[in-house]
Amino acid sequence: MTSKLNQAKQILNSAPHVLVTASNGFSIGEGINIFQNNDAFQKVLGDLIPKYHFNSILSALSYPYDNLLDAWQVWARLINYFVGNYHISPQMQSLKQLLKSKDYLIATSNGEYHFNLAGFNDESVLATEGDWGTVQCFGSHDNRQEIKSLPIAEKILAADKENKLTFDSLPKCETCGNILLPNLPFNAKYLKTVQSQDKFSAFLNSTISMHNPLTVLELGVGQNHPNLRKPIFDMLALAPQANYIIINRDHIVIPDSIKKQTIEFSGNIEDVLRDLTAPQNTF
Ligand SMILES: [Zn+2]
Repeated sequence: MTSKLNQAKQILNSAPHVLVTASNGFSIGEGINIFQNNDAFQKVLGDLIPKYHFNSILSALSYPYDNLLDAWQVWARLINYFVGNYHISPQMQSLKQLLKSKDYLIATSNGEYHFNLAGFNDESVLATEGDWGTVQCFGSHDNRQEIKSLPIAEKILAADKENKLTFDSLPKCETCGNILLPNLPFNAKYLKTVQSQDKFSAFLNSTISMHNPLTVLELGVGQNHPNLRKPIFDMLALAPQANYIIINRDHIVIPDSIKKQTIEFSGNIEDVLRDLTAPQNTF
């Protein structure tokens, strides 16, 4: 364990470029679990359960609401709770320390916007399945942009609490008048689709062109997120000098061809990140 830990520390300490991939295992390590009927779900959406019969935040996100007013009532609560009340966790602190003064990109399937809220540069966070931190217009025109969602959600929540929520309360696009929606991939006009691919390609190209080996740090990515793993497997197979460090509660199956480049830690993300950022052992 110690030699594996030291090896990973040396790789990370000397790595100029780090690509971080993170999914629900990282969120759960921060105390965020959208899959369960837990305290957060009950607190935010408990009074709406009789109406919709959903049983988790995930089921509320995927519910086919009759209209955008009903949908925004739920989105506003989720945005207010998760984006408006984020507290940085020990594992996030360790990650910030680890990436300090490095060139990095964080690709995450997590929608909670927690990497942005923790202070990572918006330009360096790629939300592959959207996020709740921004809204966008899904109309057919240029100059569409991402707008911060929290002030919008706070206004909607205030109107909801006074039973004054109407369509006039919902955010509208200044260009076309469409109601703005959270930055989630509802359809092909989802802005992040193109931006994500551009960012990802630009990051990989810049690291390859500078001849500096890329290090991939994978944090709690489940087996059901091939979009966060398949491109990494492909890239590693083409770049034998690149390194791959996996931290996951469960064992991850990887191709034999990239095993020599891989260091896997099966355990708690918070503990392993803390060990990786602790001062180097000298014995
Ligand atoms: Zn518009």
